[in-house]
Amino acid sequence: MPEKRADVVVIGAGPAGSTAARVIAKRGFIVMLVEKENNPGAASVCAGGIPMKTFRETGLSTDVIEKFIPEGAYYYPWGEQHLKLNHISVCRNLFDRKLAEKATEEGAELRSGMLVEDVRVKNDRVVISAREKIESELVVFADGPNTLAYRKFGIGFKPRADTTYVSVACEIEWRENSLNCFEFHYNHAISQWGYGWIFPKRNTVNVGVGCLYSKLSKNIIELLHYMLNKYPPTARKLSGRRMLWTGSALIPAAPAERIFGERMLVVGDAAGMVDPVSGGGIEHAINAGRLAGDVCVNALEEGDFSLSSLAVYQNLWRKTEDHAHIDLNHSLSSMFLYLSKFDRNAYIKMAFAVNSGIIRNLMTMVRLFMMK
Ligand SMILES: Cc1cc2nc3c(=O)[nH]c(=O)nc-3n(C[C@H](O)[C@H](O)[C@H](O)COP(=O)(O)OP(=O)(O)OC[C@H]3O[C@@H](n4cnc5c(N)ncnc54)[C@H](O)[C@@H]3O)c2cc1C
Repeated sequence: MPEKRADVVVIGAGPAGSTAARVIAKRGFIVMLVEKENNPGAASVCAGGIPMKTFRETGLSTDVIEKFIPEGAYYYPWGEQHLKLNHISVCRNLFDRKLAEKATEEGAELRSGMLVEDVRVKNDRVVISAREKIESELVVFADGPNTLAYRKFGIGFKPRADTTYVSVACEIEWRENSLNCFEFHYNHAISQWGYGWIFPKRNTVNVGVGCLYSKLSKNIIELLHYMLNKYPPTARKLSGRRMLWTGSALIPAAPAERIFGERMLVVGDAAGMVDPVSGGGIEHAINAGRLAGDVCVNALEEGDFSLSSLAVYQNLWRKTEDHAHIDLNHSLSSMFLYLSKFDRNAYIKMAFAVNSGIIRNLMTMVRLFMMK
C-alpha cells in the first residue's frame, strides 16, 4: 500500500478535530483530517445547542444558525424555572461541515469516508492504518467517546457505567415553529440520572433523553417514546408529529486522567471534555481543539516531539476555565451519585443547584475568602 505523509493526522472531523486541524494548517503544516463518515456531522444525533460566544469565535457565517435562544426552561418535579441564555441552535451536519471547510480553507486535507482502523508508533513516526496508510510526526485523536486512544493506548476517555451517559435523540418535523427556548425536563419517569430535552430549530425540534448508564433501568428508546407520546408536558406539544430520524450515542461524563502520549494528543469527547451535569461538550471541544492545535504547532516548529513537550498540552488544559468547570461538575456528580443512595432526587437537586447558579456563587464566595 503506498504511504502518504503528513505532519499531523487528526482523527475525526467533529468540532474538536476540525478546530485543531484548522490551527495547524494555518501555520503552514501538512494536516490530514480523517473522517469516517462521508460528510462531517452526518451521523451526529447531537441537539446542537451552542453558546453564542463559542459560535462567534468559530467565525462561521450566521446562515448556519437555526435559531437564537435567549431562554432556558427548566422543569423540575416541584415547579419550573426560566433563565436567560445567550445560545443558538444548529444542525450538526451543516455546522460540522462548515467547520471542516474552515480547516480546508487553511490548507488541511479532509479525507472523508475513511475509517481509521489502527494507529501505531514505529521508529519515531506515527503510522495510521485506514483505506490508505499515512505516516506523520503527530496524531490528534478527536474521534469521540469510543476513542481509539483509549482502546489502543489506554489514554483519553475511559468508558464506565457510572461515567457514561447513554442517550437517544430524534428530530421531529415542526415547520416554522415559534419555540425559542431550550427545554430541560427533569423527572424520574424520564431519566433516573439525566433529563429529557426539546431544542428547537427552524423547521424541526430535536428531542432526546440522556441517562447515566449505571442508572438506566429501562430501554432508553421507551423513555424517548414516553416523552413523545405520554409525558403530559412534552407529549401535548409533540404527539402526532412526524419523526424524521432517530439515533443514539454515548456522552462522556468524566474527564480523562491523561490526554497525551507518545506523539499523540487526545481532544474533545475522546478526552472526556464534557460537562458531566448537562452533557454539553461542543464549546469545550472547540476550545481544546484550539489548544491541541497550538501545542502541535509548537512541537513542529521546535522539532521537539518528546513526551515532556506534549505534556504541556495537559498542563495548559488543566489551567483553563473549561477544565475548572468540568472538574467541578465532575466532583459534584460523584458526590451526588453517592447521595443518590439515600435521596432519589439527588441528580435533580444537583442540576437545579448548577442551573440556577448556586454552585457558581458558592465557588465565588470560596475564592473571595481564599484571597489574601
Ligand atoms: C444526543 C446528544 C445531544 C447532545 N447535545 C449537545 C448540545 O446541545 N450541546 C453541546 O454542547 N453538546 C451536546 N452534545 C455533546 C456533543 O455532541 C459533543 O460533546 C461534541 O460533539 C464533541 O465534539 P468532538 O469533536 O470531540 O467529537 P464528535 O463530535 O463525536 O466527533 C468525532 C468525529 O470522529 C469521527 N470518528 C470516530 N471514529 C473515527 C475513526 N476511527 N476514524 C475516522 N473518524 C472517526 C466521527 O464520525 C465524528 O465525526 C450532545 C451529545 C449527544 C450524544
